[in-house]
Amino acid sequence: MTVSLDLTDKSVREVLKEGTPGAGGAALPGIDPAKKPLIGLTRTELAETLAQAGIVAEKQARMRASQIWHWLYIRGVSDFAAMSNVGKDLRAGLEEQFTIARPEIVAEQISSDGTRKWLMRFPPRGAGKPVEVETVYIPEEGRGTLCISSQVGCSLTCSFCHTGTQKLVRNLTAEEILAQLLVARDRLGDFPDADTPQGAIVPLEGRKVSNIVMMGMGEPLYNFDHVKNALLIASDGDGLSLSKRRITLSTSGVVPFIPRTGEEIGCMLAISLHAVNDELRDELVPINKRFPLKDLMQACREYPGLSNARRITFEYVMLKGVNDSLADAKELVRLLKGVPAKINLIPFNPWPGSAYECSDWDTIQTFADFINDNGYASPIRTPRGRDILAACGQLKSESERLRKKDRDALENLSLQAMMIAGHGED
Ligand code: SF4
Repeated sequence: MTVSLDLTDKSVREVLKEGTPGAGGAALPGIDPAKKPLIGLTRTELAETLAQAGIVAEKQARMRASQIWHWLYIRGVSDFAAMSNVGKDLRAGLEEQFTIARPEIVAEQISSDGTRKWLMRFPPRGAGKPVEVETVYIPEEGRGTLCISSQVGCSLTCSFCHTGTQKLVRNLTAEEILAQLLVARDRLGDFPDADTPQGAIVPLEGRKVSNIVMMGMGEPLYNFDHVKNALLIASDGDGLSLSKRRITLSTSGVVPFIPRTGEEIGCMLAISLHAVNDELRDELVPINKRFPLKDLMQACREYPGLSNARRITFEYVMLKGVNDSLADAKELVRLLKGVPAKINLIPFNPWPGSAYECSDWDTIQTFADFINDNGYASPIRTPRGRDILAACGQLKSESERLRKKDRDALENLSLQAMMIAGHGED
């Protein structure tokens, strides 16, 4: 799917500024950086953390961890005071040492088509400044997809990608990755289980966030451990309960971590491919110099759990005169031979300073038809949400704001921003 956003569209609603209502409707202060976060800890880590803090007896730690887990991930609370079956003294002990607060939401924008974008601010972890991260929600018929960031900025420099022009500031922690999902569910009223007693079966129908894609800022496989913990918590059946078939991790091709993604996370895989030969891919996706196409495709063929029902999504941005010829389409089909795959064709959205143009519509259609005729689904990701600049490859946090000149240029051009959502299979 693509989302394109027109900054001049007056229908965009800027809903929030500085200070944000959370799930309970009250203004939240944001995360206290002096306190250790409990969000993002595995169940085992949570139990160990409680025991080590000296506020829970060792033999009670697992039971307490499970109680707190339920409050965090089924009921969606962000305040220890709401944990009504946890004793007052323990709640006070938790409050003193730990945080389960949501990040501050600096801004929330809602597009005329229902697409939402949040700018969230996280405190510094260790040295450094607070960081800001964008998260995008795209509602569609029958599902809602949340595009989550894994890093602030990116260390890779894919030449078509605006995010790639922002230096890597730091990896996001598991807490910060999960917080993006929790905030989205708060803001969408998507914690319908707030009254579900512990141990009860949680209904999954009607969820507003039904899919997540790790396609926001950053390369998720350069932050593997935190991404893994966050996604395992997001898919925990006794919690947020997202099916792993509805979680897609998109990588530029960090080959050594691809098998581990399948084995240890078990989610769907998407590859930012964009070129069908090493010479061009070295230029568009420079990590290709380290992990060339031959190795990347081998890792794809061997991806754990790969089948016709669990295909790999290949993302292919359409760049005029660069990678959009029929010869490229033929080579793509040859390259993907033997890999259950679908190909998302993404019309390029130019940004100020970018060296590329978007392919003509007829060229994109011819390219798509050829791939389709050869047995691969090849949807062209049509623009949506023209009004809130929520693009894959265009997300750029306010930690590094656009220069005024560039922002003006963006606004004047009414640039179409895109977000690619590779989507796990239904
Ligand atoms: S496409 Fe992804 S990996 Fe490449 S620079 Fe952009 S954010 Fe980084």
